[in-house]
This record gives sequence, C-alpha cells and structure tokens, in this order.
Amino acid sequence: MSVKKVKVGFFSLTCCEGCEFAVFDLEEKLLKAFDYLEIVESRVLMEKIKPEAVRLDISFVEGSVISKHDLDKLHYIRKKTDFLVALGACAAIAGINGIRNALPEGVQERMKQKAIIPVKEKAFSLSAFVKVDYILNGCSVNELEFLDFLNRVLHGVIPRLEEVPVCFECKLNGNACLLLKGIPCLGPVTYAGCDALCPGQNAQCIGCRGFTKDANFKSLDNLLKEMGIGKKERFNLFTYFNPLPKELRDLRGGSE
Ligand code: SF4
Ligand code: SF4
Ligand code: SF4
Repeated sequence: MSVKKVKVGFFSLTCCEGCEFAVFDLEEKLLKAFDYLEIVESRVLMEKIKPEAVRLDISFVEGSVISKHDLDKLHYIRKKTDFLVALGACAAIAGINGIRNALPEGVQERMKQKAIIPVKEKAFSLSAFVKVDYILNGCSVNELEFLDFLNRVLHGVIPRLEEVPVCFECKLNGNACLLLKGIPCLGPVTYAGCDALCPGQNAQCIGCRGFTKDANFKSLDNLLKEMGIGKKERFNLFTYFNPLPKELRDLRGGSE
C-alpha cells in the first residue's frame, strides 16, 4: 500500500539562507524521512517540481519581511499552506535583520532612499503579517530540533514550544555560569532548545532563540550594570536578535 506523502515547501525571504542549509546538511538523516514526505519547493535544492498551484501541507519559511517582494511572497505562501513554520530567528523574531530596527530614524531613512528594491524601513517577523503555526527558533535553526519536529508531525503530533530559559539547559549540562566570571549572558531571558550551545563553549548567549514570555529584563540589566557593563554594550546585547524590551527603553541613546 502506498503512503500518502506530506507535501513540504521551503521558502526564503530576506536572509542568508543558513537555516535551510542547516536542514539539508542533515543529509542521510533527512533522507530517511523522504519515505513520508515530498519536497515540492526549495530554492536551495533547486526544486520547483510541481506547478505553483499545488497545495502544501507544511511550509518552512526562513528570513524576515523587509521588502514588498517579501510581503507578497509571504501572503502567497500562507494562502497555499495548511501549516506554516517560521524557520529560524530571522523569521521568528526578525533576528539579525532586526538590528536595523534599532538604528536612529535618519539612518533608516537613508537606507530606504538608497535601496534598489522597495524597502520597508524596518525588518519584521512573519507573525507581524500572517498566522504562524509553529516556530523553530535559533540562528541557525537547531538541526536536531528540526528532525524532532518532523518526526512528531509525521506521527500526527504537534510538539510543544520549549518554555524554559537557556540557563535551565546550561545547569543540566553542569556549565560554570558566565555571569559569575563577569561575562554578560542573555541565558536567563532566552528560550532554551539549543542545549545551551554558546555557554557550553564559554561564549555568551546573545538571545538568538528569542526572549521568554516571563523574562525579568530589569533584573538582568541591573545585574549587568552592577558588573560594570556600560549602557551601549547592554543595549547592543539586548538588541542583537530581539527588539529592545520596553522595560529597557532607557538604554536607547545617551550615557549611563
Ligand atoms: S536565522 Fe540566522 S542562519 Fe537562519 S536565515 Fe537568519 S541569519 Fe541565516
Ligand atoms: S552561563 Fe548564561 S545560560 Fe548559563 S547559567 Fe549562566 S547566565 Fe544562564
Ligand atoms: S546559547 Fe543563546 S545565542 Fe547561543 S544558540 Fe543558544 S539561544 Fe542562541
């Protein structure tokens, strides 16, 4: 008896396409899933096998919305997709593209004027415009988390989003806390799911998996301040991947 395959599309808006590459880097591990899924569209795989009208069970969309082209493409994908997944930080939280959102107004305006394609002054996550059914966070997306998601979905189960901060996984792994060594780290306010990748290698967490719902930004910022971390450095740290939390709006501009 032949199995009805799940139709999947991969799409890129403005981004480095690193998330899609991370997924296809899974090679044989991903090939095993091909008995159950069919990749209908993927620019990276140079696949455009089916006519555009084909309906997709799942679309993975990486990248942020920056231009009208991105926005039109996103609406087109949403219309033909049953289950839309934001793939990676650019799609989920505007990510690296969102750095432009923190730029002073004059700089944003000049960027807009110099752009060749019609450009929005800011970068947006997918959910600013369409319903997103699931988020796979990270920069790049975590390959094992992607496989786990695929495995569960193919068995008819929608996985739950991770709701604990990176510190949780960091402690499970027995890492020494960077904050105690005087190194700033966003682990307490960032969603887990990466197995505390950066602190595990003695590097600070810079929040690529997005801020947790119940994050206590003020408390972490006060601690960083007590550690002697300046206002500009704190601003840059909190806005690498994420919009500046409203509780920390005083970090914008000016001196300590
Ligand atoms: S989340 Fe990171 S790796 Fe993925 S597309 Fe964006 S910049 Fe590239
Ligand atoms: S190193 Fe960072 S992630 Fe790990 S426990 Fe300390 S603050 Fe949390
Ligand atoms: S430790 Fe932080 S910055 Fe590093 S991968 Fe995890 S969430 Fe991203």
